[in-house]
Formats: sequence, structure tokens, C-alpha cells
Amino acid sequence: MSSSVLATAVSVSPVFRQQLEEVRARYFSRNPDLWPVFRDPAMARIIDVRKSHTPPAERLGIYPDGPALLGQLRAEDHVPDESLAPGALHERLVFAAALSKAWEDPCSVENVVTMPCDPAIHGAMIGALANPNLVYREYSEMAEELERTVVRQIANLVGYDPEEATGIFTQGGTFCNLYGYLFGIRKTMPESLHLGLEYGQDYRMINSQGGHYSNTTNLSLLGVNLAKKTIRIQVTDDHDIDLEDLESQLTACFRLGCVVPTIMLTMGTTDTFGVDRVKPVHDLSQRLCKRFGVTTPPHIHVDAAVGWPLIFFLDYDFDANPLEIDGLTLEGLRANVDRFRELRYADSFTVDFQKWGYVPYTSSLVMVKHRDSMKALEHDPENFSYFEKDIQGQTHLQSTIECSRGAAGLFGAYSAMQYLGKRGYRIMIANGLQNANYLRQRLSETKGACVIAPKNHGPSVAFRLYDPARVKDPVAELARDKELSADPAWRRRIQQHNAYHREVFLRRGKRGLYTNWVQFATHTNYDETDKWEPIPGEKAVFFNPLTDPCHIDAFLARLHG
Ligand SMILES: *Cc1c(COP(=O)(O)O)cnc(C)c1O
Repeated sequence: MSSSVLATAVSVSPVFRQQLEEVRARYFSRNPDLWPVFRDPAMARIIDVRKSHTPPAERLGIYPDGPALLGQLRAEDHVPDESLAPGALHERLVFAAALSKAWEDPCSVENVVTMPCDPAIHGAMIGALANPNLVYREYSEMAEELERTVVRQIANLVGYDPEEATGIFTQGGTFCNLYGYLFGIRKTMPESLHLGLEYGQDYRMINSQGGHYSNTTNLSLLGVNLAKKTIRIQVTDDHDIDLEDLESQLTACFRLGCVVPTIMLTMGTTDTFGVDRVKPVHDLSQRLCKRFGVTTPPHIHVDAAVGWPLIFFLDYDFDANPLEIDGLTLEGLRANVDRFRELRYADSFTVDFQKWGYVPYTSSLVMVKHRDSMKALEHDPENFSYFEKDIQGQTHLQSTIECSRGAAGLFGAYSAMQYLGKRGYRIMIANGLQNANYLRQRLSETKGACVIAPKNHGPSVAFRLYDPARVKDPVAELARDKELSADPAWRRRIQQHNAYHREVFLRRGKRGLYTNWVQFATHTNYDETDKWEPIPGEKAVFFNPLTDPCHIDAFLARLHG
């Protein structure tokens, strides 16, 4: 499908364009007439500076007295003795915010980060103002109801029973995934609550080689032996989990009476948007549990930190296509959305509002299909001596990893979803996907360029560049790069290619689009001993609401440096 589909031109319909401009003007413009919080003098100055869209390396130079302010900031070692009168702008405070990474620059396509929308900033500020602490109802009061409301709305979007489902806002997607591992550990090995993991019960954690690095940091934090107690399942050419390998590994575990606490899947990998299937994994788990008499099945957690907003399309009318999303994009979107229909088979999943949800940091939610999973995490009540006993049982207090939980992210997320609505989200998401497809299509027509995992029509575009003087057919060359071989000639050739692309990337600098270099953009095939190696490349992620095809054209004009 890839080559023929990519040959069709991506075209943005005037109807789509008009809707996009409207969403930009109303929700992404920092317009003080629409969102009066931006009228505050410090805010207004910061917004003004950040609108200049100067490349990162030149921003300090154009800021009035920029280098001097940086010098002052670096020389500031002590807290001032005296108070500062309110009202006066604090120069260095404004400076630091103005010159923090400008996600509003349409060229900012680095990784899975975005500018937050106006209503999310407005909402997060309201949350900061009220300052509820979600740890405990007495400290949160109505904010706890709001958390439940957001959880119910996401449950309904994804197809969880909202009565049965629960969830909590926590510290980033990494923590959401940590909960995913912990649910499995506490459900399958309840003694671990007091005895830890190494009390005699043999177990293996299962995740995918394409998973996010938080898999490693979380498992290491939990005290899991990464080499001996973790099975990383192979991935396909499209970077999703290889179901055959998963079946053989899970069978081997169960056959030996080895517990599998958690199977960690990913829907939307960070670099190439591989999307794992969930229903086949759920069905496989059930089938094997039955066959081997396993009474507590593995907890299936889906890391949907990046991909989750596709659930806004689960009830989109793809046939009528009222938003007039471009045909090629619609086709890829429909295929991805079909996979996200299976998200409801997950026992829990990660939602990062702070990524494709256009909400300021940090705003992450771990969604849980059955409250029982949360119950399995409960510690003994005597540990929580300074909270009222009779309130404890009604909250997640005894189950959360953290104590204080801030609510700015919750208020930001709620506000974003209320103001943008499904419609607003769909327009922003479709815009990103149209941009991504446009870049994929143009790269496929460009000398020396090869798109990685071209069938993954997500917002991330990873590619490799070859010297056009040496490589006539970059697609065939990437296939050769993937043929892992002990032959020194193979290694020499791939190293030359890597060096060419790296050199071009550095020479070009951050111009046109501010892309990233990734060490593991794709992988070689597996050799007969299952060995493989990462292959580096370059990537752009199209979350940015302000990026247009003209920015992509400017980037392509100097692609090879
Ligand atoms: C970003 C990301 C994470 C980690 O989320 P944080 O919010 O940065 O902690 C986990 N998984 C995937 C797939 C991600 O892209």
C-alpha cells in the first residue's frame, strides 16, 4: 500500500483550511480579547517575544540585553535579603520564560511536544489559583469531582464502562506506565506489597523492543532484573509488537509456572508511531491462561501517551468526512483508529494530555478499566495516620504512589476538552497528520531520502538520507542496511551512510523545521541468533498547530545541507 498511496498528492481542502484557521484564531492565538489572562503585562511581553519565530540559536541575541540578562541570571547565587515590591516586572523572570523553548514557532517539530492551547493555559491557571491537593478529599473538595468527571469522559470515549472505570492524574506518562507495571505486580503477586519482588515467586515482565525508555527506568526502579526478568518482544517492520514472538514467550512462561505480572503494549511509539494491537493480546492471554490454569491473567497496560487522542475519532463519520480531511490522510487515520477501537481491551492505559492533548506540563492520566486494579495497590490503613479513617476508604489515598498530587494539569485538561470539544481536537489532529503525510510524500519524491516505516500514518515522520551521488535507490538501500551481517563490508557501508546523514543534519542546523536526530529510528532484521541493531535517522513530529506545508517546503529546499 505504501508506495501507491504515497504517490497520491496530499491536498488541504479549502473547507478544512477555513476550519483550521478558525481553531487557530480562537484557541491558539494568545489573543487577550478572547482570553483576558494574556493581558497581564508580564504575559503580554513574553507572548510578544515568543512570536518572533527566531531560530533557537539566535534567540538570545535578539532579546533586549539578552546576553547581559543571562550573565545576571548565572551570577545570581543567593536568595535576596529584602522583599521586592509587587507590580514591578521582574526582568529575569520574564526573560527566562520568554527564552524557554518556543513551541509556538511553526518550525518546532521536535519530538512529542507541543504548544498548549489557550483554554488549557486558562484552565491550568485556575487550577493553580485554587491549589487543590488531589491526595485527599479534604484537601481537594470539588477538584476530586472534576477528576472523576474527566475520567468518566475518557472512559466513555474509549468504551470503558464509566461506572467500573477509574483513573488518577499523576506525574507524567512515565508514572502512568509505572502504575501499569505495579497493577500487574500487586494483582499477580499480592505478597509483593510487603516482601518485594524477590521472595521466591518466579516472574517475567513482558514489554516490546519498540517501547519507550520509561520501560527501563520504571522496571529498574521497581527492582526488576532487566536482563533476567524482563522479556522484550520483537517488533515487526512497522514497529508494532510481533504477536508470534509474544505467543511463544508467554507460552514458555506459563508452561514453567512463571508468573507474568504485566504485558506492556504501546499505541503510538514515540519515533515512528507503531501501534500495537490489543484485542489479539487480550485473547491470547485468556486462551493461554485457560490452557495452563493461570488464575490471575497478566495485567495488560497500554502506553498510549502519544497516541490516545485518536480516540476522538472513534465515532467520526469517515464516509461523510464532514471536516473534509484529505483523502490519503483519512485512509491512514481510519486504519489507525480501527486499532484504537481495541484500546478498551486494555486493563489500563496512559494518557498524556501534555503531548497531543495541547495541555501544559504536567498533565497525565492513568486510566483503569476496573477499580479492583486500584484496590490491589492499597497499603494498610495504619500507614496513613494523619488522615481521617472513615474518608480513606472512599478515595485512592492508600493506592497512589505519590502523596501530594497537583491539580493544574487536571484543570488544564478539563478546560481544553470543554472548549475545543471533539471537533477542535479532530481538526488539530488531522492538520498534524496532513502535514506528516505531506512530508512523507515529498520525501518519497526526493533524491537520497527514504521514509522509515512508511505504512505508519501517524504524526511522526522518521527518515534516512543517503548521498544521492552514491545511492540511486534509497528504499532498496535501507532494505540492505537492515540485512544485519557479520561481513565487515556491511558495517562499513552502513557507517558511511550514517556519517553522511549525520553530517548533513548538523550542517543544515535548525532551519526550516527543527528536526531531531534519533539513534534508534529503526532496526535491522533479526539474525539467526535473534540479534539486531538500531539504525539511526532523523525525525519530525507534527503536533504543532501552527505548522503549514510551506514550512515543510522550506525545510526540503535545504534537505541535503
Ligand atoms: C513521552 C512518552 C512517555 C513518557 O511520558 P512522560 O510524560 O514524558 O513521562 C512514555 N511513553 C511514550 C510512548 C512516550 O512518547
